[in-house]
Amino acid sequence: MKVRLGLGSCGIAAGGLQVLEALQKEMESRGIKLEIQKSGCIGLCHHEPLLDWIEDDGRVFTYGAVDAGRSVEILEAHLAGCGPLEAYLVSSSDEPAEFLQQQLRIVLRNCGRIDPESIDDYRRQDGYSALQKVLAKMSPEEVIEEIEVSALRGRGGAGFLTGLKWKATREAGGLYRYIICNADEGDPGAFMDRSILEGDPHAVLEGMIIAAYAIGAEQGIIYCRAEYPLAVKRLEIAIAQARQKGLLGQRILGSDFSFDISIQQGAGAFVCGEETALIASLEGERGMPRLKPPYPSESGLWGYPSSINNVETLANVPWIIRNGGEAFAALGSRESKGTKVFALAGKIERGGLVEVPMGTTLREIIYGIGGGVKTGRRIKAVQMGGPSGGCIPAELLDIPVDYQSLSNTGAIMGSGGMVVLDESSCMVDLARFFLDFTQKESCGKCVQCRIGTKRMLEILERICQGEGQEGDIELLEELSAHISENSLCGLGQSAPNPVLTTIRYFRDEYEAHIREKK
Ligand code: SF4
Repeated sequence: MKVRLGLGSCGIAAGGLQVLEALQKEMESRGIKLEIQKSGCIGLCHHEPLLDWIEDDGRVFTYGAVDAGRSVEILEAHLAGCGPLEAYLVSSSDEPAEFLQQQLRIVLRNCGRIDPESIDDYRRQDGYSALQKVLAKMSPEEVIEEIEVSALRGRGGAGFLTGLKWKATREAGGLYRYIICNADEGDPGAFMDRSILEGDPHAVLEGMIIAAYAIGAEQGIIYCRAEYPLAVKRLEIAIAQARQKGLLGQRILGSDFSFDISIQQGAGAFVCGEETALIASLEGERGMPRLKPPYPSESGLWGYPSSINNVETLANVPWIIRNGGEAFAALGSRESKGTKVFALAGKIERGGLVEVPMGTTLREIIYGIGGGVKTGRRIKAVQMGGPSGGCIPAELLDIPVDYQSLSNTGAIMGSGGMVVLDESSCMVDLARFFLDFTQKESCGKCVQCRIGTKRMLEILERICQGEGQEGDIELLEELSAHISENSLCGLGQSAPNPVLTTIRYFRDEYEAHIREKK
């Protein structure tokens, strides 16, 4: 028997550490010897803090909204053989929560199930067996080919084919090559990468080591938000453990391949998620994007070929190597393979982390997994892809979630933020909120992005304040076109998306605001 506590950031914020303290005190005072395992987030964020009671036969009983008092009650009930305590039970291995039943977990396979600070726990789940396979049996070219067969696309937003990126980096030659993990997740409403790093850091490291072998890199860097201190701490522990076990450093697992990883913390600029800005930041410069080409795969960090891959992309790699690229490509839709992790938030009954095959419809995610709108009101729209994304109206909930279908609606996949809005949400105010964000995060290099977003924001603010004028909507559209066409990087190019999609689907709201002047 043992107890497992969800101690990702969400569990801690909900009071998980107080539960841990209460359990430890109770067990100490009664002389009970029972293992308390710490884990990351399993995704049931709406039920945090979570406590699992794990029987010797492997059966798991998951309790939600646990506090110090309840945790002691649960402990007593199970020790007395009276468990499970139905009142607080939210899921069990016999009857998993509806939220988890309809998911397919590749990236999140270990999150909330293993101790992220234990390399042995990760290895018990086949951890590092993909790396062993690669070093024992595969050439770098074969690894790249396997990733190409899988058709894995970058999960950070752009959706570029990972195998192609690795191939271009390898073939660029040069004295050095770098693999860089982009963990600078900054979209409001997105927490996929944080949860993966907090819940299963070794999966990201293993993916990175395999990527390094494939492209021929000896050094890797994880560029992680400084606002994610728990993720940074767990990465540091994982790196130290991997070094100790000979999985990082010289001659990994006795092979000729040597590689090591360091962590660089980002200083809070959203634009540093853009790969050339990220490189500038790593080089000690101000994080500003530059013109491409040359692409980082030709000339990246310090001018050397570099492959920049996001956290979720890398966490897919060990599974693909173990199961084969074809198995991965068999999942998902025609153009978008595998699964995608989404952060389901907003006016939703069951918010949290969701992983589903590409091509699952928005309706299945929001109603089947998320349980529908929280307030009992009707759903109005879904904001996909954060400030670079767009609003999809309720009438389009049956579209499959894949790169092409989302792009047809004017939204984008982005990194996976999915914010549900109900009929009480003002769509003009929502557009204003996101534009305010991108305007503040503009690095200022391009006039269109720096000044254009400022003018757009002023127009949106006056519309929201009841001071809109005839012609404002057309002016917003005209400015959007200029900004999208003439901005240097994705931040500026996509900044108008929330405005354009809300005008496209909710033009009447803009018109009503302007008509009903103060
Ligand atoms: Fe900077 Fe905006 Fe230009 Fe990007 S588009 S380089 S964020 S000013």
